[in-house]
Amino acid sequence: MWWRRWLPACLAWGCVAALCGSRGLCPAPNASRPEPGQCPRRRAAELCAWALSSDSLLDPFPVDVIQENYVRNDVLENILDLDVSVKGSSDFLEFVSGAKVIFGSVPLAHRYGGHQFGSWAGQLGDGRAHLIGVYTNRHGERWELQLKGSGKTPYSRNGDGRAVLRSSVREFLCSEAMHYLGIPTSRAASLIVSDDDVWRDQFYNGNIKKERGAIVLRLAKSWFRIGSLEILTHSGELDLLRRLLDFIIQEHFPSIAMNDSNRYLEFFSTVVSETANLIAMWMSVGFAHGVCNTDNFSLLSITIDYGPFGFMDSYDPNFVPNTSDDERKYKIGNQASVGLFNLSKLLQALKPLLDPRQNQLASQILEGYGEYYYSRFTELFKTKLGLLGENENDNFLIAFLLKIMEDTKADFTMTFRELSEITADQLKELSIPEEFWALQDLGKHKLFSEWVTMYLLRLNSNKGDSDTKRRTRMTTVNPRYILRNWMAESAVQKANLNDFSEVQLLEQVLQHPFQRQEAAERAGYSLHPPAWAKHLKVSCSS
Ligand code: AMP
Ligand code: MG
Repeated sequence: MWWRRWLPACLAWGCVAALCGSRGLCPAPNASRPEPGQCPRRRAAELCAWALSSDSLLDPFPVDVIQENYVRNDVLENILDLDVSVKGSSDFLEFVSGAKVIFGSVPLAHRYGGHQFGSWAGQLGDGRAHLIGVYTNRHGERWELQLKGSGKTPYSRNGDGRAVLRSSVREFLCSEAMHYLGIPTSRAASLIVSDDDVWRDQFYNGNIKKERGAIVLRLAKSWFRIGSLEILTHSGELDLLRRLLDFIIQEHFPSIAMNDSNRYLEFFSTVVSETANLIAMWMSVGFAHGVCNTDNFSLLSITIDYGPFGFMDSYDPNFVPNTSDDERKYKIGNQASVGLFNLSKLLQALKPLLDPRQNQLASQILEGYGEYYYSRFTELFKTKLGLLGENENDNFLIAFLLKIMEDTKADFTMTFRELSEITADQLKELSIPEEFWALQDLGKHKLFSEWVTMYLLRLNSNKGDSDTKRRTRMTTVNPRYILRNWMAESAVQKANLNDFSEVQLLEQVLQHPFQRQEAAERAGYSLHPPAWAKHLKVSCSS
């Protein structure tokens, strides 16, 4: 069994000497399937008092008859109801490395398809993720748990089922960072490292190198994607398509009545508006997903499958985080239109279940996507600028700022942050303090003073506002810290040498992206990215 090889090398953070046995609460490590009664004292916060169920997924859907396999922690405490000290137990290490199957868990791999870079790619599926079950927590929330990088599944195709440390650190940190930025996303509970070799051609140039593998325990309310439905339509499995869709609506769209004959239309309408909302939110923090294929677009409109993503430094609508994306198909400025393309593929998948009238209405819903996206984008950027109420020139004010940012290559995150910190008086005088380095860059534009005049005039029209109120409001929506590529890279390089201090620092800092933090300032996280950051590359290889 492949997982055995992982055990001696496991290096979860914080996994120090506190072994499970020393607490005397857990079953023997070699008991891979404990009965619930095996837990000597059943305490809610202990792993051994836990149960997972896969019934709600297994009962309604057919399972492949082939048995062989061919080919601080908010999440722990507040989602998984575990005591944070569980990190130190060998039981936990076995669980998060895939060695221990929790009571009630039946590891599953999901079959899905997808449109990749514009073309139908056929069947894909969970090739290196195992869905290990659904956990219902003390708040009654239902979370689907996956181990990513946990080995081959029937959908691994030519892959090895593994994930490398660098991409796992990036997924772990970024999914958590996005949550704290207020952006719908999957979450990450743990990351465990192996000394097993994983071979990767990182830049697809024939230079195959040995890397370290890792497994992330990740969570989402649902992992179903647009591609989950597409595969069923493509293969003509319409009965299953209907069952899956009804299941998703019943489980995750409580406002839609199951006896409503228009339920698929309502589902589509919700996914259209929520996807537009998600992409507008990505844009509001300068996030480029990198691989916007339909198999990476969640039906719950959360950010999933972090790969060669990137937060842009200098504002640039042509920013492409993924060096494998030669055609720049998924550049940041294309994300909104790619969202429309992906939703059109969702509609194609739903079509067999819609009557002619519903089909027509669905097309109209899709036509409304652009306007909805734009209104959300405007709303978010108005909030970023501290604007209250309505003004017909607001779109112009936003576009004007973005244009001078593009011309001056001003930093996206820090421009908005420094606008939140600078006083209106300082702006009026055009006296920009030296430490406001992004505004210093922006200030070099010949139209900067014109934009400032227009902005201050607009701020004056805010009803019931003051400059202090404006700045307080703006600092709660404009982050000071994001997971810049250089920061992730620096943490990954150290992690590769067994030093997880920067991963832990980033995990802590990014939990409070809107608050100035001494440790983050010392680490230079709000400074101009270092020169070497310009040459960093991330590819699809992970
Ligand atoms: P991604 O681009 O990571 O979302 O992956 C696209 C598809 O390739 C999904 O079906 C993955 O499960 C699969 N895949 C990616 N890497 C591997 C791997 N190392 N082994 C098996 N399948 C993989
Ligand atoms: Mg994927």
